[in-house]
Amino acid sequence: MLPFLPFTRPTIDEETIAGVAEVLRSGWITSGPKVKEFEAQLSALFGGRPVRAFNSGTATLEVALRLAGVGAGDEVITTPLSWVATSNVILTVGARPVFVDIDPRTRNLDPDAIEAAITPATKALMPVDLAGLPVDRDRLYALAARHGLRVIEDAAQAMGSSWRGRLIGSFGDLVSFSFHPNKNVTSIEGGCLVMTHESDATLAEQYRLQGVVRTGMDGMDVARVGGKFNLTDVAARVGLGQLARLDEFTRRRRELAREYFEVFGQPAVRALGLGLPCADFEQSNWHMFQVLLPETAGSPSRAEVMGKLHALGIGTGVHYPAIHLFTRYRAAGWKEGDFPHAEHAGRTILSLPLFPTMTSAEVSRVAAALVSVLPVSRQV
Ligand SMILES: *Cc1c(COP(=O)(O)O)cnc(C)c1O
Repeated sequence: MLPFLPFTRPTIDEETIAGVAEVLRSGWITSGPKVKEFEAQLSALFGGRPVRAFNSGTATLEVALRLAGVGAGDEVITTPLSWVATSNVILTVGARPVFVDIDPRTRNLDPDAIEAAITPATKALMPVDLAGLPVDRDRLYALAARHGLRVIEDAAQAMGSSWRGRLIGSFGDLVSFSFHPNKNVTSIEGGCLVMTHESDATLAEQYRLQGVVRTGMDGMDVARVGGKFNLTDVAARVGLGQLARLDEFTRRRRELAREYFEVFGQPAVRALGLGLPCADFEQSNWHMFQVLLPETAGSPSRAEVMGKLHALGIGTGVHYPAIHLFTRYRAAGWKEGDFPHAEHAGRTILSLPLFPTMTSAEVSRVAAALVSVLPVSRQV
């Protein structure tokens, strides 16, 4: 029996592990010099823009919303096909998420649908680059400019992705990343916010730690309430080891995605009728490789497919069920039928294994497993 193939796995090298041990022995393990160094390297990556690190991508998004002044009575337009953190944080700051459907081709927020959802209460747009495929930044920022809206980019999955040759994070309004272990760069848990103004970075530090402002040797004041969102030096040291390998990770993910397309082009796999992602090998960081399972009569349920693949030693994931159909969101009035494309994806989407240390043979193994568990659903 071959070893179990998970759908994702972080790549932590020995040098990073030794670096973590060094931090642990240093006498300073929470936020300190390593966090500063991590922020400085992130800032250099993003063209010198201000960057602050947090203990999760969720905390990062919440701080971004507060910096943008989003609160009670405000509406934020976002996608129903995302990790639920995206819209939960909008509720956390007292605002209202306004979902619009996805474009079934990109699986991202449909720019045409955004315009129709703008009301006088709209304060911000919150796009998500699902699986690392960038949302059209030209159209997004043109819309934001025309309607005077802030943009909070939930780029949690887009570390290393680019738009027209520019790295995501190196331009734009407020750009939020996550360093959760499943993301392309990890600090175990963590996130960072890229801003435009140094004054926002100062405010972000207050929202990050209880609102505390220190002056001189012993001065302390609190003018606003902040959270407890600081990253530890241990986590930052992991992030530093990852950042050094970002280009290598992105290159390898793109290679593997290409290989998926090659094997999925073979007649036996094409006959399964899977919905494939956009074949973008320039801009996407290939955070995930996701297919849509066919819903033809007699085809097994997604749960059955996942169970059979698991029995063959292959892990898969669901990213994600449509957010508006969760109980908390239904209670606010959303229902089945509101966003047909997001609902279809939410029911049928499946993330296949993809991570930098995966091999070409494992790509073929996944394809062969799919052929063995799925019926032929179309003639090729
Ligand atoms: C991972 C993720 C988040 C949240 O990040 P955490 O670090 O897990 O808090 C938010 N939005 C999207 C789209 C994500 O993928």
